[in-house]
Amino acid sequence: MAFDQLWRKTVLTVAANKVVTNFVSNYGMRLGAKRFIAGESLEQAAEVVKKLNNEGLLVTIDHVGESVTTKTEAIEAADEAIRIFDIIDKYKLNANVSIKLTQLGLKIDPELCYDNLDRIVETAKKYNNFVRIDIEDSPVVQITIDLFKRVLKKYGKEHVGLVLQSYLYRTENDVRELGKLGASLRIVKGAYKEPESVAFPLKKDVDENFNKIVAIHLKSGNFTAIASHDEKIIEETKRFVKENNISNDLFEFQMLYGVRSGLQRQLVKEGYKMRVYVPYGKEWYPYFSRRIAERPANGLLILKSLFKS
Ligand code: FAD
Repeated sequence: MAFDQLWRKTVLTVAANKVVTNFVSNYGMRLGAKRFIAGESLEQAAEVVKKLNNEGLLVTIDHVGESVTTKTEAIEAADEAIRIFDIIDKYKLNANVSIKLTQLGLKIDPELCYDNLDRIVETAKKYNNFVRIDIEDSPVVQITIDLFKRVLKKYGKEHVGLVLQSYLYRTENDVRELGKLGASLRIVKGAYKEPESVAFPLKKDVDENFNKIVAIHLKSGNFTAIASHDEKIIEETKRFVKENNISNDLFEFQMLYGVRSGLQRQLVKEGYKMRVYVPYGKEWYPYFSRRIAERPANGLLILKSLFKS
């Protein structure tokens, strides 16, 4: 097994350990999590968004949290997503909102989740804004697509879009199907620990599939967000859009807050749309663990900050 795969598996396994969870949740912000998280409150996040907007970067705001266990928590998560739209409007931020369906109660009751999702997309439409539904681990992919299709039909592609992962074998087919509905898609490689029965085990195949499905979606005239920090993917997208005369309105690059900030600004300078995913909130631990799992250097960075005052 390649080192990066082994690192990813190990970090995601260790991160699930209760003792580790408690320790990092208590000390993590001091240990360097704030490099990736805009703050624990929406107001702190709004400050960060304003600064990014001033540099020409677009933003999508995510109130971190996933897999809630009570109906009250799910409703509160939807209320918070709605509050993000209010704050975007109030401070005239150039931002939309990203959400996770397990945070809206998907694992408690899909209909409860749908009602919450419906309220959020309705608010997006009211403000002429947009909601992006993040994609989570493979057991919830189908139900996420099903709920997405319902809100897509009701509110339209200008107000709601979905994320799909190039590491899943099924994704090419999903892209073709959702392409027929005109869906706006964000393509990512995928951040969860998945078995070989559902996902390409080799990075090379995940990368190849990424380029393939981006090309399929762009060619069929649908909006595509290319969400990757991988320079090879970015270069290939640039080449493809140039060769196929694809207009700048039909795609954008997306990256995570705190990752490859220099490259983000470089793309803005080159005239591309570049959107930064800005997470905030108290439940930042699982999000943070996935960022460490993606890159050994991030783990080292956190270790170093352990020994700084
Ligand atoms: P990789 O092949 O992982 O990395 C390529 C290069 O990018 C690395 O060599 C390194 O230089 C740099 N890099 C990558 N990650 C990091 C990092 N964390 N820190 C520092 N440098 C890094 N996944 C989901 O499963 N569901 C989602 O809904 C989802 N939404 C996302 C939204 C956005 C805007 C982005 C950017 C990613 C999202 N992801 C999501 C995560 C994604 O699936 C990948 O896990 C993540 O983007 C790393 O893959 P990569 O394409 O950047 O390339």
